[in-house]
Amino acid sequence: MPLSDEKSIRTLEILAPTIKDHRQFESKLASAPPELRRIIYETCRPYLSFEAKPLDWYIMKSCQRAEQEQLPLTDGGSVVRDFQPAQDASTIRRANEVLAQTIAKRTLTLTCGNCLLEHQFYALDGETPNATIRRARECGWVYDYKADPVRELCPECAK
Ligand SMILES: [Zn+2]
Repeated sequence: MPLSDEKSIRTLEILAPTIKDHRQFESKLASAPPELRRIIYETCRPYLSFEAKPLDWYIMKSCQRAEQEQLPLTDGGSVVRDFQPAQDASTIRRANEVLAQTIAKRTLTLTCGNCLLEHQFYALDGETPNATIRRARECGWVYDYKADPVRELCPECAK
């Protein structure tokens, strides 16, 4: 989510009044990359229909929730198939199953097998592991199934 540009800020200003309550605000913050949370918080706060609690409060809440809730590991068969059509579907399915099992506490951590960059994707409200993985793919992370051992590649190394 590129927030540095004017347009993204404006989008947040438009979205903020539609946030209903603390729970929804918390989920928005928790699903954002950690380095963007402060910006999102400060941008939205003046436009919220309720008085915001401190940013740390929301982060703490979402951590507590993550400990209490565990995402189901399957979602009835939605399979990532919109990207990398060259890959064979069962390979992708296997990779996704492995990844889904690693999503603990609603966080998917991917480590680039080339440059060792690590990135965390936070499951959105009601998002299934497969959807979180699909989001990671849309962000440019690639499952390098031709490598031995197989590995994940960050958007930079996958270019
Ligand atoms: Zn990399």
